[in-house]
Amino acid sequence: SIGSGRVGLRNIGNTCFLNAVVQCLSHTRGLRDYCLLKSYRPEKFSKEDAKLMEAFSQVLSGLWDVNEGDTVVNPRQFYSIFKEAVPHFSGYSQQDAQEFLRFLLDKLHTEINRRPYVRRTGKEPELSEEAVAMWKKHLERDDSRIVDLFSGQLRSSLHCSVCSHYSNTFDVFCDLSLPIPKRSSGGEVTLRECLDLFSQEEKLDKENSPMCERCNRRTECTKRLSIQRFPQVIVIHLNRFTTSRWSISKSTVYVSFPLTNLDLGPYGPVDFLYDLYAICNHAGTVNMGHYTACCSDENGWCFYNDSSVTPVSENQLQTNQAYVLFYRRSNSTATVRK
Ligand SMILES: [Zn+2]
Repeated sequence: SIGSGRVGLRNIGNTCFLNAVVQCLSHTRGLRDYCLLKSYRPEKFSKEDAKLMEAFSQVLSGLWDVNEGDTVVNPRQFYSIFKEAVPHFSGYSQQDAQEFLRFLLDKLHTEINRRPYVRRTGKEPELSEEAVAMWKKHLERDDSRIVDLFSGQLRSSLHCSVCSHYSNTFDVFCDLSLPIPKRSSGGEVTLRECLDLFSQEEKLDKENSPMCERCNRRTECTKRLSIQRFPQVIVIHLNRFTTSRWSISKSTVYVSFPLTNLDLGPYGPVDFLYDLYAICNHAGTVNMGHYTACCSDENGWCFYNDSSVTPVSENQLQTNQAYVLFYRRSNSTATVRK
């Protein structure tokens, strides 16, 4: 039988970013069960060992295959295999949790891809291709439990201000990285305002715009992003870090977000509701930071701070440290809007 999952992860030297992300993924049921049951073994196409997947699953087994949360799991083996796969992550400097999440999901996906290896060409198919055709093409190359759960499709619409030609491009995403609107210190914004800013029409001048298909040259145009295909799990990255020419700064603006019934309908073709189940937090500054997680299970929410796990109440979840939010599609029926 399965345990409570309320087990901490040892910090093995500035690895709080890893511990926080692993706890969030460990509470992603569709991924957890897949790992615990080792369902990837008969599924994967590649003949190579799924080394990272095995090591990741072993960590999850340590977190879930125990009866009481008196133990702590050491992620050392998993981390060293991850660093072999992504050498960029070696060294003991503070790492970015969202970057780690992207690399981890990408590497896991590569190991458990159900499709044979197909060489990717730099040039994507014609811009006029329909979103559905693009998605089919994506699944012909990339198909795994990671894709089932986390992959969505983003539409980028360009409108040429010279000839009024519209064109769409479609990209796969595994997380939405949202800008945070500027506020004076002590100010407060909502997740909706971040989403609005993300999907707001943007004017591109000639130098920064792509070629207009009809004018056959770079022209002033407007660009707008929207969600074309919603994933099961939507990972929302609140982009608190801004890189300027000389330094990186962090926004500590408080962003409020709904725990249930996040409605992404205004940003895509269908009304889907999402419920929050995990949060990755970042406390402190750019150089001196600490990552923690809050995750929900059948019995409520817990605060995961490396090896320590303590229950928290729902009203303690929203802080100005929220950095990556994990929402799952709720069972409420979706209604077609457009
Ligand atoms: Zn044009």
